Amino acid sequence: MFKKQRLKLVLLNTAVFFSLFILFSTVVYFYTKFTLYNGVDEAILASKKKIENRLKESAAKFPYLNFRDIQIKENKSGNEIFRSIPSLDPRIIPILRDEKGNILFHSQLSVFYQNNLDNIKPEKIDELYNIKFNQFHFRTLAFSAELNNKTIMIQLLRNTNSEKELLDNLLKIIIVGGIIVFVVSIGAGILLAQRTMIPIVDAWKRQRQFVENASHELRTPLTVIQSQLELILKNPDSNVMSNASYLGTALSETRRLSKLTSNLLTLARSDSNTIEIEKKPTNICDLINKIIEPYIEIADLEDKCLKLKCSESLVVNCDEERISQLIIILLDNALKYTNHGDNIDIELKQEETRCSIRVIDTGIGVKEEEKELIFERFYRGDKSRTRLTGGTGLGLSIAKWIVDSHGGLIKAMPNQPKGTIIKVSLPIE
Ligand code: ATP
Ligand code: MG
Repeated sequence: MFKKQRLKLVLLNTAVFFSLFILFSTVVYFYTKFTLYNGVDEAILASKKKIENRLKESAAKFPYLNFRDIQIKENKSGNEIFRSIPSLDPRIIPILRDEKGNILFHSQLSVFYQNNLDNIKPEKIDELYNIKFNQFHFRTLAFSAELNNKTIMIQLLRNTNSEKELLDNLLKIIIVGGIIVFVVSIGAGILLAQRTMIPIVDAWKRQRQFVENASHELRTPLTVIQSQLELILKNPDSNVMSNASYLGTALSETRRLSKLTSNLLTLARSDSNTIEIEKKPTNICDLINKIIEPYIEIADLEDKCLKLKCSESLVVNCDEERISQLIIILLDNALKYTNHGDNIDIELKQEETRCSIRVIDTGIGVKEEEKELIFERFYRGDKSRTRLTGGTGLGLSIAKWIVDSHGGLIKAMPNQPKGTIIKVSLPIE
């Protein structure tokens, strides 16, 4: 039933998890790359500064670096400038070149560099860039300087293979991690989708049950009305008097139908949260007093005694209209499920920060196993009796919704020696 939605949710969850991983890995990879290469560049620039400072010092300090007899003194003087800077980064190889870029002293270089003189030849001046040959990676910078009134070129070379390897390994870890995270994401996506679907499926089942029950309940009075009208139509010449019983039944079923539809509408609206609860401070004692007036007369006629016991005035922050509806539902039940000579008491009390409303009757009572069930939609205890009294089984579910929407509690308890107590507890504020 929900396969498509479940699949969509799995895909969405997986995509979210995986995208987060990709985002995180990309940030880590590029940040590491930036930090590593930035460190290399800074080290090269720092070496350049040190060499330049050294060259600015008196040229006399480098007497061997006289370009006229440079060839003769090569061995002695090759590394003179660089050797005199002890703090030079050992990972950076300085190469002394003439103005045109020709290497002045070969002997200063190891065999590896001597064999690759063409590959390491600078192509740009005053610019940091990468050189790659035979699987070796370098960062290099060439700059010109003045020495003994002569322009020379100094090239700085820094091997970056370790940085490259580190980044390659990081990329491998990210790819392997990505595969693992992808598999885990699918698992987590399925698990999350299942969890998310549980309340949706439950709500859908409840809704379907509700629609089934509602259509069943609507069909019954409609069938009765239809059959009664058909009976009347069988004798088109008959008068109203002779059809009074058919008409009476049809009328009472119409009333039931009207009550049923209005109850269904209330519950449907409560489900879709389209009913606003407008709370305002209300004197509950005065409100109930006003509501029960007509019911006292009805109770009298049925030889029942209905009383309100309210010692103090209780102001509760609530929706007056909904609380009136709640009291009417409870009174209606109390009158329906009591017999001649029974008592119905409404007791109002403040219990700490709550207002307690108890409707106590000495009627037929609620069975222990029905205490919770009676608040369910369409649940009717004594089917024959409720059929007679026109019950729809929706009264207490509406009452429960009203109490819930006020943050209160409602429960049914047995009354001693017989009857029922319905207790409502509402927060005062
Ligand atoms: P209606 O929708 O017309 O109120 P109903 O009274 O049957 O129909 P509810 O008010 O929801 O529906 O009550 C559900 C069931 O709980 C009733 O059918 C009845 O069996 C039981 N019940 C409710 N109040 C009392 C009571 N005061 N004493 C005994 N049983 C009660
Ligand atoms: Mg009822």
